Amino acid sequence: MQPLFLYNTLTRKKEEFKAINPPYVGMYVCGPTVYSDVHLGNCRTFISFDLVYRYLLHCGYKVRYVRNITDAGHLEGDGDVGEDKISKRAKLQQLEPMEIVQAYTVDFREVMRQFNNLPPSIEPTATGHIIEQQEIAETIIKNGYAYESNGTIYFDVEKFAKEHNYTALTGRKLEDLLEGTRDLDGQDEKRGRLDFALWIKAKPEHLMQWRSAWGQGFPGWHIECSAMSTKYLGAHFDIHGGGMDLAPTHHTNEIAQNLAYCGKQPANYWMHTNMLTVNGQKMSKSLGNSFLPRELFSGIHHLLTKGYNPMVVRFFMLQTHYRSTLDFSNDALNAAETAFDRLHDAYKTLRTLKASDKSTEDIAALQKACYDAMNDDLNTSVMMAQLFDAARIINSTNDGKSSLTRADIDLLHVIFQNFLVDICGVKFEEDNGEAATVLHNVVDVLLDMRAKAKADKNFQLSDELRNKLVAAGVKIKDGKEGSTWTI
Ligand code: AMP
Ligand code: ZN
Repeated sequence: MQPLFLYNTLTRKKEEFKAINPPYVGMYVCGPTVYSDVHLGNCRTFISFDLVYRYLLHCGYKVRYVRNITDAGHLEGDGDVGEDKISKRAKLQQLEPMEIVQAYTVDFREVMRQFNNLPPSIEPTATGHIIEQQEIAETIIKNGYAYESNGTIYFDVEKFAKEHNYTALTGRKLEDLLEGTRDLDGQDEKRGRLDFALWIKAKPEHLMQWRSAWGQGFPGWHIECSAMSTKYLGAHFDIHGGGMDLAPTHHTNEIAQNLAYCGKQPANYWMHTNMLTVNGQKMSKSLGNSFLPRELFSGIHHLLTKGYNPMVVRFFMLQTHYRSTLDFSNDALNAAETAFDRLHDAYKTLRTLKASDKSTEDIAALQKACYDAMNDDLNTSVMMAQLFDAARIINSTNDGKSSLTRADIDLLHVIFQNFLVDICGVKFEEDNGEAATVLHNVVDVLLDMRAKAKADKNFQLSDELRNKLVAAGVKIKDGKEGSTWTI
C-alpha cells in the first residue's frame, strides 16, 4: 500500500500517517453542541471527518472513531463568559435541559444519516463523564497547573506556558494573545488573563449543576474532550479533529490540559477542516447567515431557488479539499448538481458498455491517480477530477470513439464503487439494493422485445415500446451494435 500523507496542524507539515498500534487507529472529533439545529457549516466538518474515517477503513485500518456530544459546559462566549447554551435554551423554552439535548441529538443524528455519514464507534456525552472531568481537574490542581478561586477551578496558563509551548497548535505568539485579551480589573477571580475554567461554580438558578469537592458547579467546555478522548482512546492516540475555528482556544486548551494532567500531548495528528462560508464570511448561527440542512433539501429559504438532494450537497462539499474554504451559493450548488448528474449518468452508462478486444485508455493509471490524490492529504478535489476523466472515457466509449476491454470496464466499476460510493460516501438512489437490479433487468427485457419486434418488421410495436420507455424516463440510444440506455 502507498503511504498516506496527512497535514498535521501541530507541525504545519504534511506527514506520513503511521498508526501508533496498527491496524488500530484512534480518532477523536469534537462533536456538536446540542442546543440548536446543526447548520451546514457544522455538517461540512462532520462530512470531512466521515471522509477521513471512510478512507482509513478503506486502507484496511480498524478505526475507533469517537465523536462527542456536548450537552453541558459550552458557554455562549466560547470561553468562561455567558450562560450555558443548553441551560439558556431550556429556560427560554421552559423545558428540561435534557429535553433540549434529546431533541437536538435526535435531529443531529437524522441529519448525519441523510448525509450518509457513518455513525462513529462511540458517541459519548459531557454529562455522562462528570466524574472523569472532575478527576482530571483534581489531578491538574495536584500537579500545580490549576487553582481554585471561589468555587471555580482555573487553569494557570502563564505557569504552564513557562514550561511548555502553550500556542504550539497555532504558532501564535503568547504576547500577541495577551494583547488581544482584556486586562483583569481586580474583580476577576482568575489570576492570569489567559486562564480558563476547568470547573465553574454554579449560581443557584443554573439548571445543570453537579456536586464536587469545590461545591456545586459544572464542567468547563474544553475539559470534556480531554476526559472523553483519554477514557476511550488513551492518553496518546492517532488523530484529533475538528473545525479550524476550534484550534486557537478549544484545542489549544485541550492540549494544555492533557499535558498538565498526564504529561502527554493527546494526539499524533491534529486535523482541522476549513470553514464553509457565505459571501466569504464563516457560516455561523450567531452571524445569522446559516442554512439548515432541511432548508437546503426542501428549498424553503428566501435565498434558495430550489431544493437539493443531500447527496448533491455532500458531493458539493467533497469537491473542495477539506483544508480550503468553501463558499456556499445557489450557483455553486447548481454547478455541483450538474457535475453530480454527469458522474451519475456515466456510472449508469458503464453498466451497458460493450467490451472490445483492445483498449485505447489506461484505466490502471487513472486508478493510481485517484489513490495518489487521496494519499496526498485526502485531496478529493484532484481525485474527483480523475472521476470526471473516467466519465469522459465512458461516454466516448459509449459513442464508439474509444474502446475498453472487459477488464478495463470492470476496473472502472471498481473505481466508481471505491472512490465515489465507499470513500466519498455518495449514494445513488437507484443503486439501492435489489430494486435497481430488477429495474435494470426489466428495461433489458423490454429492449430485447423491441429489438425482436424491429427484426420482425413490426415497427408499430417497436415504436410503441420505445415511446413508452422514453415516457417512463428511460433514455435510449440506438447504435450499430444495438441499443444502450440510461435513466
Ligand atoms: P459547535 O456545535 O459550534 O461546537 O460546532 C461543531 C463543529 O462544527 C466544530 O468542529 C466547529 O469547528 C464546526 N463548524 C462550525 N461552524 C463551521 C463552519 N462554518 N464551517 C465548517 N465547520 C464549522
Ligand atoms: Zn472538543
